[in-house]
Amino acid sequence: MKKGIKRWKVFFLSLVVSIGMMGMAAFAADANKNTGKKHASIEWSGHSCFTITNEKGTKVVTDPFPDGIGYKVPELYADIATVSHDHFDHNNLAAIKSNFTAVRERGQFNVDGIKIKGTKTYHDTELGALRGENTVYTYDIDGVNVCHLGDLGHELTKDQLKSIGKVDILIIPVGGLYTIDPEVAAKVVNQLDPKVVIPMHYQTEVLSPDFGTLSKVDSFVEQMKGWKVVKEDTFSFNQSEIKASKDKQLVILNYNK
Ligand SMILES: [Zn+2]
Repeated sequence: MKKGIKRWKVFFLSLVVSIGMMGMAAFAADANKNTGKKHASIEWSGHSCFTITNEKGTKVVTDPFPDGIGYKVPELYADIATVSHDHFDHNNLAAIKSNFTAVRERGQFNVDGIKIKGTKTYHDTELGALRGENTVYTYDIDGVNVCHLGDLGHELTKDQLKSIGKVDILIIPVGGLYTIDPEVAAKVVNQLDPKVVIPMHYQTEVLSPDFGTLSKVDSFVEQMKGWKVVKEDTFSFNQSEIKASKDKQLVILNYNK
């Protein structure tokens, strides 16, 4: 009989402890929400290749590059991969190790719960006569509009701006030579009016000189007066934080592969 009571006491005690822990876990989850726990993220693999991961862990990879441009070809895992244009330094889908859906067309798509829109633009200032067409992709990442400009070669027209729509986070080429240069990039930033800008396709220590010499990111930073410059390995964000943010942030992602 005594033994029975003891067991019951142990059971009751562990029940109290479990309920208490559940309560604490719920409280912790709430606290995270209130302090703006970061959910989605953007990482840079070099050049125009980024991995954008939403809250659920669904991954979008942009413009994967091949061996030979200087950056190490990363081990990429994607659910979705987009290609802005069919040049060798942007379309190496073979670098992706997982099963994925490739998106390289214009129009609106809903893949794995992510809304994607492709807008037609050009790789030069002459309607594609020099380097062909380019697709600007926008992704709805948990209510935050992320836009990757590919190898954009010109300022945007009214129709293109309308098609692209509202942009919260803008990933923009700034190196010139093959794309818009730092000055034009700053103008395109003004056109799209995002809260966060992430530069790409610029000269680094790693990008091969055989590729041609692009402008360094510093030249773009100089154009961006009034923007708060931050350097990060991974840019993490969520909708409430982006909405609440008063700062205009220029996020330079580190290449440390
Ligand atoms: Zn390129």
